[in-house]
Amino acid sequence: MKLIKTKKELRDMLKAERQRGHSIGLVPTMGYLHEGHISLIGKAEQDNDIVVVSVFVNPTQFGEDEDYGTYPRDLSRDMERCKEAGADIVFVPETTEMYSKGSATFVDMEQLTDRLCGASRPGHFRGVMTVVAKLFNIVHPDRAYFGQKDAQQVLVIKKMVQDLDFNVQIVECPIIREADGMAMSSRNTYLNPAEREAALVISKSLLNAKQRIKQGERSADSIVTEMAGQISSELLANLDYVEVVNAENLDRISEIKGRILIAVAVRIGNTRLIDNIKLEV
Ligand code: AMP
Repeated sequence: MKLIKTKKELRDMLKAERQRGHSIGLVPTMGYLHEGHISLIGKAEQDNDIVVVSVFVNPTQFGEDEDYGTYPRDLSRDMERCKEAGADIVFVPETTEMYSKGSATFVDMEQLTDRLCGASRPGHFRGVMTVVAKLFNIVHPDRAYFGQKDAQQVLVIKKMVQDLDFNVQIVECPIIREADGMAMSSRNTYLNPAEREAALVISKSLLNAKQRIKQGERSADSIVTEMAGQISSELLANLDYVEVVNAENLDRISEIKGRILIAVAVRIGNTRLIDNIKLEV
C-alpha cells in the first residue's frame, strides 16, 4: 500500500494502472476511520483492481463556527486500517496541495441542497461537491463509494455526476452501526459518556418510527411529531431537524408510501449527529 501526497504522483501512478487495464475504485473520506469507512473500502476492494482511499479534512465543507479545527485526525492509525481493509493507495493531500493558491471555482447545485443538512449547514454541499468533483478529476475512478449514513450527500453526488457528465458509477453502501444501534461516525469521539448514552435516542427514535410504520402508521406528520417528542425528552439532545421525505428527491411527503427516507439531525452538547433509515412502504 502506498501513501501519496501530491496530485501529480497520484495521476502518474493511476495512469500506469489504467494502462494495465486495471479498474479503479475511490473511497473519499475525512479520515479517523471506523468500521463504516472500512465497509466502503471492503466493497471497493471486491469490485475493483485498485482501491484509492482519500483522507482529507476538507475545509470548504465546514461552516465558520463548525468543527474544522477540532475534527479528529490520526493518520498512522488510518494507514493501518486502510492496509488491513485492502486499500492500495491512500491519498493524503495538504490543503494547499488540494486547493492551489487563488482557487476560486466551486461546484454548486439548486434545490436538492436547500433542505435537510443543506438548510442547517449553508455552503456545506458546495464544499462537498467541489472536493468530490476535484477527486473525480484527479483519480478518474470507475466507481466511487459513499455511505447511506450521509443520505443527502449520496443523492447530491449522484445528481452532480448526472448533471456534469462525470464518467463514474456511484455505489451507495449501508449504514454500519455500533452494537447498541448508534450509527458509527468519526464525530462520536467528541461525546463524553453521558452524551454517548443520550445520543442513543437518535437511533432509537428511528427504530420506533420503523416499528410504527410497520404497524400501519401512514401519517408523516405523526411520525415526525412522535420522533421529535422522543428526542426532546432526552435532556442533552437538541433537535436540529427530523423529516420524512421521498427517498429519491427529498421532497416532504404527507402520506407514507413508496420509497421513503426518515432523516434526523440532533445536537448532543456541541456535537451535531445525523442518522436516517430508508423504507419501502
Ligand atoms: P466521512 O469521513 O465522515 O466524510 O465519511 C466518508 C464516507 O464514509 C462517506 O461516504 C460516509 O457516508 C461514509 N460513512 C460514514 N459513516 C458511515 C457509517 N456508519 N456507515 C457507512 N458509511 C459511513
